[in-house]
Amino acid sequence: MKAKWGCLGAAPRVIGGTRVTWRLDELRRLTTDCPCGKPHQPIPMEHLRVGPGALAEAATWIRDRFERVVLIMDEHTRAAAGEALAHALTDLGVLWTACVIEPNGQGDVVADEPSIVQALIATGPDVEALVAVGSGTLHDIARFASAKMRIPFVSVPTAPSVDGFTSAGAPLIVRGVKTTYQTHAPVALFADTDVLERAPKELVWAGFGDVIGKYTSLADWAFGALAADEPYCAHLASITRQALETAASQAAGLAEFRSDAIRSLMEALVLSGLVMLLFGQSHPASGGEHHLSHDWEMEFLRSGRRQVLHGLKVAAACGVIADVYHAHVPDAVADAVRAGQAPWASLEGREQEVRNILASIPSGDHVRGLMRRLGAPAEPAELGIERSLVAASLKRAHKLRNRHTMLRLLNETGAL
Ligand SMILES: [Zn+2]
Ligand SMILES: [Zn+2]
Repeated sequence: MKAKWGCLGAAPRVIGGTRVTWRLDELRRLTTDCPCGKPHQPIPMEHLRVGPGALAEAATWIRDRFERVVLIMDEHTRAAAGEALAHALTDLGVLWTACVIEPNGQGDVVADEPSIVQALIATGPDVEALVAVGSGTLHDIARFASAKMRIPFVSVPTAPSVDGFTSAGAPLIVRGVKTTYQTHAPVALFADTDVLERAPKELVWAGFGDVIGKYTSLADWAFGALAADEPYCAHLASITRQALETAASQAAGLAEFRSDAIRSLMEALVLSGLVMLLFGQSHPASGGEHHLSHDWEMEFLRSGRRQVLHGLKVAAACGVIADVYHAHVPDAVADAVRAGQAPWASLEGREQEVRNILASIPSGDHVRGLMRRLGAPAEPAELGIERSLVAASLKRAHKLRNRHTMLRLLNETGAL
């Protein structure tokens, strides 16, 4: 079968304009043939489609492979796309069951034990695949449940809200603690732009925020490679950077909900997710800003507060992290080198490279300005994240992952 990316025709790659378009087969080649010279992970996806009419295409694609599927959705995404997909499947003779995941006591649909059990109960022994219709959370539920049942899952996003649709990791909340389980990527993704354009604006803001957060993710990734020899690929970093810059250039179009901008954002999110799949770890798309966001999420869970969309937290955290890095990292490196503090003293003589990495991060004001152009919240306080929580998280979030981020440098050198 010929792999497709978006509605790509002749040109394999158009970068720097309003679209990022990479063919799936071109990305797949990087598994064995990356300019960095090292092998990357395979992309186990068979099909990708971002564009108008993708929902109908999903139904046909499913019909060609499966006789019985379960649609994992919530009440909102059932209305947005689930019902239309179910009708199309019925017309094509595919047997399907709806599994409408119920919200928790706070009114949030969460990837936790009750949701997972609900999906598993709906999946009888003769079901051949799960279809995630909806947000990142519904994908995580379908991803985990399908992996446990040893059947594939198909991704049908209903909003350009997050870059994790194509990832293999399923972040679940188990006994109140968020842990990411390595499961599997979808076998195919169908993102219908006619559906995405009707998504609530907060979900578009969140998707934009998740991409904008790559400013500090990419810088932390490069820093970890420089300071502690963490695995790195400059080529994959450049692809994520292109996704980031293309999405950032769409701010005005996204503010007006223009369809070309929404499509471009979805393509950037999918591309970022595919780079993570290739790299096999989340480094390309997750740095100090994501660690801060995870810390806030866990605190909200502990105190029973309603969750804030992932990408909104990431963007607000990116602004905070950008300010903190610009203010403190050069001095922290100098102090660590002077004190011979391992592993940071290895940066001796490489201060200019650290400055180059910092120069790739815009100011916190710039990050916040991008969110404001969409009319989106840009600061923690606007998300109900109080100043004391931001201060506490800056001192502990680096411990959530074993990564040599600049946030960890600042903590280990006492700069924060
Ligand atoms: Zn590479
Ligand atoms: Zn993210």
